[in-house]
Amino acid sequence: MRRPYTESMTKAQDRRVTSLAGYPDLRLRRLRRTAGLRRAFAETRLSPGEMIAPLFVKEALTEPSPIPSMPAQSQHTLESVVKEARELAGLGVAGVLLFGIPARKDLRGSEAWSRSGVTQQAIRAVKDELGDEAVVIADLCLCEYTEHGHCGILSEDTGVDNDATIAAYAQIAVAQAEAGADLVAPSGMMDGQVAAIRAALDSSGAKETAILAYSSKYASSFYGPFREAAEGAPRFGDRRCHQQDSANVEEALREVALDIAEGADAVMVKPALAYLDVLRAVKQEFSYPTAAYNVSGAATATGTGTGTGSGTGTGAL
Ligand SMILES: [Zn+2]
Repeated sequence: MRRPYTESMTKAQDRRVTSLAGYPDLRLRRLRRTAGLRRAFAETRLSPGEMIAPLFVKEALTEPSPIPSMPAQSQHTLESVVKEARELAGLGVAGVLLFGIPARKDLRGSEAWSRSGVTQQAIRAVKDELGDEAVVIADLCLCEYTEHGHCGILSEDTGVDNDATIAAYAQIAVAQAEAGADLVAPSGMMDGQVAAIRAALDSSGAKETAILAYSSKYASSFYGPFREAAEGAPRFGDRRCHQQDSANVEEALREVALDIAEGADAVMVKPALAYLDVLRAVKQEFSYPTAAYNVSGAATATGTGTGTGSGTGTGAL
């Protein structure tokens, strides 16, 4: 296993130890004394322009419906999602990640790729209003659209059928690209999903539509509040046969390597807060555009989803 981060840190630490003067000549607290000094010497800066806000659009609603498990967040109507996206753009937030909840669910989740599906309508509405002012990312999965709540098409013997599911994902990607999504974001953790989506986008003429791959997505109870918001909790079983196991980091690097090879334009680690080691390893290994998904349970626990933190909801890239 390659450990570039560990090795480079060791060298850097050696250098620091030999080059630094010691106390009392050197007092690191001097640069922390005032807010101005701290701001001037901050190593990391986070701004709204680096953040994406996840928004939920529900077809059957006539007015926004607050989500009890996610304070300050609502399920939106088409009208209110546009208003919210406009407000976020005004705050300098880079864009939105759209999740749709259809009025009608079925076994295969066919509303996901319908041209008139709620997500496609929301993409069009936000793009019509904001154009290139906001990056519009479409979550690409089946769990909000299937009546059983699983991320794919079920077969009798294997549970979620990988290959039938990625064929459906390819159709969804084309519908989302046609509606105007800047990026599609496959979140189902099926093998080969990025390659199937890239091929479908290219052959439908959507060569410019980018893919943000949920490459390293771990099974986690931190998704609990989100599932209430997206109404996509599985009715039976769980997602451990396709999402990653918390014990594995090397496997995360293999997932990311495969997604990049298959054509992902950016990769993601989710949930970010619980897997900062994976985030660091992915960035160090690949130097690739990398998104960190701060998920609903973590945002609720840390207060960043209540309006008291970043003020941009539950997602931060
Ligand atoms: Zn899903």
